Amino acid sequence: MKRYSAFAIAREALRHHAGWERAWKSPEPRRRYDVVIVGAGGHGLATAYYLGKNFGITDVAVIEKGWLGGGNTGRNTTIIRSNYLQDASAAIFEKARSLYETLSQDLNYNVMFSPRGVLMLAQTEHEVRGWKRTAHANALQGVETEYVDAQRVKELCPIMNIDGPRYPVLGALWQPRGGTARHDAVAWGYARACSAMGMDIIQKCEVTGIRAEGGKVRGVDTSKGPIDCGKLGLVVAGHSGVLADMAGFRLPIESVALQALVSEPIKPCMDVVVMANTVHGYMSQSDKGEMVIGGGADGYNNYTQRGSFHHIEETVRALIETFPIISRLKMLRQWGGIVDMTGDRSPIMSKTPLENCFVNCGWGTGGFKAIPGSGWGFAELMAKGQSPLCDAFSLDRFREGRFVDESVAAGVAH
Ligand SMILES: Cc1cc2nc3c(=O)[nH]c(=O)nc-3n(C[C@H](O)[C@H](O)[C@H](O)COP(=O)(O)OP(=O)(O)OC[C@H]3O[C@@H](n4cnc5c(N)ncnc54)[C@H](O)[C@@H]3O)c2cc1C
Repeated sequence: MKRYSAFAIAREALRHHAGWERAWKSPEPRRRYDVVIVGAGGHGLATAYYLGKNFGITDVAVIEKGWLGGGNTGRNTTIIRSNYLQDASAAIFEKARSLYETLSQDLNYNVMFSPRGVLMLAQTEHEVRGWKRTAHANALQGVETEYVDAQRVKELCPIMNIDGPRYPVLGALWQPRGGTARHDAVAWGYARACSAMGMDIIQKCEVTGIRAEGGKVRGVDTSKGPIDCGKLGLVVAGHSGVLADMAGFRLPIESVALQALVSEPIKPCMDVVVMANTVHGYMSQSDKGEMVIGGGADGYNNYTQRGSFHHIEETVRALIETFPIISRLKMLRQWGGIVDMTGDRSPIMSKTPLENCFVNCGWGTGGFKAIPGSGWGFAELMAKGQSPLCDAFSLDRFREGRFVDESVAAGVAH
């Protein structure tokens, strides 16, 4: 595959852009692969990429029922941060964040990583204590964060109203190297790199069954016919329960719709990401100038990819309190994705009761930021049967009561 470069742009400009290759191939599935990954979202594609890059395993198919990146990976609000409370979470999210720093160069694809800084507001005394505690934990974990007071918040984000009306801003947890990246580009960059390694990305191909023999996985049935495999990775976010059912085991997962919306584009007015968890709303400004706004998750299980109407009103109300200047903005689009929630709000990256079948899910409302780290760890788990990044996130923890409790530190925030 030809490399993208400034020279290539100049060359193609002279050739009327006739020489660009397709970014990835769209092959028909073969009868067998060493590894099949179900789900061409960021996590599935990153897993395939690091299987090839770190372990030389390239006889891999990534199977996707829709189009690649069309699940939650292309539906999120793109926030990247690693300021989690528990050591195991900080380790994987910081691994991911640090990989994001050089991901564009690694993939030879501009993922537009923008480490503009993330502010998580403290609007109650309880949150002040919580964020200070997280800042201390992060210092021990080697994650760069700082608790800042309300005045510093105002300096970092002048359009913010720090005085109320319901909850004044008391301070914030500030992660200066957190930020955003272009979500589609992350999926496309990994897909292109996987395709260049000879892997097959098979879109519009739904997995409809999982075949097993003697307690071991044998392959999958798909809408394009059966495919055999040595190892199987299930990386399907909100549909994890459906796939686990096909494989004959149950997951402690609930699937709910989470929604987001964007405004019409306006001039640059905000160069940080702000999350206001007490009033519940979060916002950043895209490179096009749109205000990207994250809403709440539905309070009941569903697969609608739409989200309940009242969340829009609640989210917009919360943000107008925090940023009065947006009160007259028109909203352009609203959408939803199906997120996979565990009880402790931490992911599952694990072996399963079916031998050679692995599952990566439970990233809930906050897995975009984890994509490179998750792919790195899950590839190691699939290749070697063990990974230090994944150990704490095995399915056993639910039986043994070893929860990685991020339900206060990260469960609602993205
Ligand atoms: C509105 C919203 C805002 C969010 N904001 C943030 C944020 O700001 N920051 C953050 O870190 N995270 C955020 N998230 C969460 C994040 O998007 C997800 O955790 C992450 O994208 C999950 O990626 P994935 O690869 O596991 O899943 P997905 O991208 O959903 O990929 C799974 C794929 O599996 C495919 N699939 C399902 N069933 C089958 C089948 N039977 N056969 C074949 N393929 C199948 C689906 O079509 C899908 O493409 C947000 C999510 C939403 C919905």
